Amino acid sequence: MNLILFGPPAAGKGTQAKRLVDEHGMVQLSTGDMLRAAIASGSELGQKVKGVLDRGELVTDEIVIALIEDRLPEAEAAGGAIFDGFPRTVAQAEALDAMLAGRGAKVDVVLRLKVDETALTGRIAKRFAEQGRPDDNPEVFGTRLKAYNDQTAPLLPYYKGQGKLVELDGMGSVEAVAADIDAALGQVVK
Ligand code: AMP
Repeated sequence: MNLILFGPPAAGKGTQAKRLVDEHGMVQLSTGDMLRAAIASGSELGQKVKGVLDRGELVTDEIVIALIEDRLPEAEAAGGAIFDGFPRTVAQAEALDAMLAGRGAKVDVVLRLKVDETALTGRIAKRFAEQGRPDDNPEVFGTRLKAYNDQTAPLLPYYKGQGKLVELDGMGSVEAVAADIDAALGQVVK
């Protein structure tokens, strides 16, 4: 099964993706993690994207599509992927559909974690204090939220039109959201 965890930054996508990996043996494909790893390694790609991440803007579609394409065989071998933080633009969603179709696969379900902006801002302030991730600082977080609203939220009608969108309340505890995710996945016909 291929599922997309969809939502604004700090909605809980990464936390829930890691739990699904642990409990269901799926593969998490987080473009944010891949980009941070590239930056940490000092690779050419890392040097190219560092400023973009620091500013809270989106890197080009071309870069993230290539990162995902590289990892699809591994995900396929594991029985499917949890896409976390990808796609973030309509062009990325179209490319993902095409890449999966080329492998005889598809996006099975898009789980949207709904969290209001006040709660997101509170979560991010806490994460910034605890982990000090540079793009969690309040000013950059504002840019990330704007990128979500302007460039990523338009994917909601895209997936709704495909009949794949499931909306979940992301405001509850990690356990409550996990239970809702499992219930939603139980409904998905593979
Ligand atoms: P994340 O950890 O998913 O919040 O991603 C951290 C940062 O990486 C984002 O603010 C973007 O700069 C970049 N990024 C991650 N995924 C994507 C994507 N699918 N498209 C464009 N930029 C991305």
